[in-house]
Amino acid sequence: MAERKPVHITPEELAEQRHYAAMVNAMPDRPASYHVVTYGCQMNAHDSEKLSGMLQDMGMVEAADRKEADFVIFNTCCVRDNAERRALGNVTWLKEVRKTNPKLIIAVCGCMIQQPGMAGKILKQYKFIDLAFGTSNLYKLPELLFNTLKSDRAVVQVEEKDTIAEELPIKRLRNDAAYITIMYGCDNFCSYCIVPYVRGRERSRDMEAILKEARELKASGVKEIMLLGQNVNSYGKGLDGDVSFAKLLRALDDIGIERIRFMTSHPKDLSDELIQAMGECKHVLPQFHLPVQHGNDEVLRRMNRRYTREQYLDKVRKLREAVPGIGLTTDIIVGFPGETEEQFQDTLSIVQEVGYDSAFTFIYSPRKGTVAADMADQIPENVATDRIQRLIAAQEEGQRKAMARFIGMEEEVLVEGLSRRSTKAVSGHGKHGVGVTLPGTEADIGQIVRVKITAMKNNTLVGERID
Ligand code: SAM
Ligand code: SF4
Repeated sequence: MAERKPVHITPEELAEQRHYAAMVNAMPDRPASYHVVTYGCQMNAHDSEKLSGMLQDMGMVEAADRKEADFVIFNTCCVRDNAERRALGNVTWLKEVRKTNPKLIIAVCGCMIQQPGMAGKILKQYKFIDLAFGTSNLYKLPELLFNTLKSDRAVVQVEEKDTIAEELPIKRLRNDAAYITIMYGCDNFCSYCIVPYVRGRERSRDMEAILKEARELKASGVKEIMLLGQNVNSYGKGLDGDVSFAKLLRALDDIGIERIRFMTSHPKDLSDELIQAMGECKHVLPQFHLPVQHGNDEVLRRMNRRYTREQYLDKVRKLREAVPGIGLTTDIIVGFPGETEEQFQDTLSIVQEVGYDSAFTFIYSPRKGTVAADMADQIPENVATDRIQRLIAAQEEGQRKAMARFIGMEEEVLVEGLSRRSTKAVSGHGKHGVGVTLPGTEADIGQIVRVKITAMKNNTLVGERID
C-alpha cells in the first residue's frame, strides 16, 4: 500500500464548513430535525457525536425516534458482514417512512461506505439514499448536506485521505463521561480485518490538542474520559518529540480528571513503560482491554498478530503484577480459516488460563480485500457456531470465577442510569470495568458512589452503599 501522510484539516477549511452550516441553517426548507443511527465501535459512537454537533450547528434539533426526523443518517460499520446487513436492512425499512414524510432525507456514512467501490454500488441498489460519504470527510457534512439540499440527485463523496480534523462541534452523549480520540486509523493489517482499509493509515493527534480537550472536559464537570484509538499503545508514532502513550497517560493523569480509561490496546505494542505508568497513575483505572483473538501460535501467525501465546500471557502476568486485581477483557475470533479443533482448544485453554472479566466473542466473517478472505479452508458455519457456543460457555465459567474476587471488596461506581430491573436501584461501572447495581435514585446519575460488593448476579456485581 502506497505511503500516505496525515492531512491536517486547516482552520480555513473548517471555517468554510461553518459557513456552509450557516447557509444550510438559513434555508427555509431545510430539515428541522435529525436522528443519527450508529453501528459498531466506540469510534463510531464518537463520530456520531460529531455528526450531531454539526447538525445542531445547522439549526436542527435531535428527534428521539428516526420515524420523527426529517434527516436520518446511518453511521455504519463493516467489521463483520452482519453489521453491514443490519444497517442496509434498516436503511431499506426507512424508505417506507418517506411515504408519510416526503421531506425525509436519508444519508449513509462511515466505514461501510469507505470500502472501495461500495458507495457507487449501494446507491445503485438503494436509489432512495440522498447522501453518502466515508470516514475521512465526515467534517464536510455541512457542505455535503448543502449540496444535497440544492440538488435533486444523490450526493456521494468518498476520499482516500488520512485526515485529522480538530475543533469540530461535538454533541456528547453524556455529561459525566466523554470520549477523546487520540489516534485514527490502523497500520497493523491483521489478516482478517477491514479496519486499515476503511480508516486509513495510523495517525496521532497532537498531544497538546488532546490535553486541551481533556482540560476543557474537566472544567465542564466530566468525571471520566475514555481515550479512543484502534491501537492506542502505538500513540505518538510519527509525531515530533519524545511522545508515547505512557507519557500521554501521565500528562492526562496530572490534569486530575477522576477516571481515565482507554481502548483498544494491541498486545505487541504493550510496553513495560506503559505497564509501569498503569501502576503509577492515580486516575488511570485498573482495567485493560487486551484482545487476544486466538490461543494458538500458528493461527496467531496467520492472523498477522505478531505475538505468541506465551508473549501474550507474559504481558498479562506483568499487568497483574503492576496493578493487582486489574480488570481484564478481550476480543476472540473463532472459525478463522483453517482453524482445527486442536487449535480451537488452545483458545478455550487461554480463556481458562487468563480468567477474563468479560470477552467479546466473534465468528470469523470474511471481509473482501483482506488477506484471510482468500485463504483456503474457510470453516463451515455449523462448525464455527458450535465452537463459539463452547467458547461462550468456557468464558462464562471463567468470568464467574474471576468476578468472585470482587465479593467483599470496596468499589467506586460511576452511576450511569436507573436499573432496568428495579425502580429503587441504579447501575454503573466500577473502577475495574465491571457492571455494578446498587440501591439509588435518579439523583445519583453521574455521581461516583462507594459501595461494598456483596453478591454477583449474572454478569454484574451487586453493591451496598458505604457513604
Ligand atoms: N483494533 C482493535 C484490536 O486490535 O483489537 C479492534 C478493532 S475491531 C473493530 C474489534 C474486533 O472485531 C477485533 O478485535 C476482532 O476480534 C473483531 N474482528 C475484526 N475483524 C473481524 C472479522 N473479519 N471477523 C470477525 N471478527 C472480526
Ligand atoms: Fe483490525 Fe488488527 Fe488494526 Fe485492530 S489492530 S483494527 S484488529 S487490523
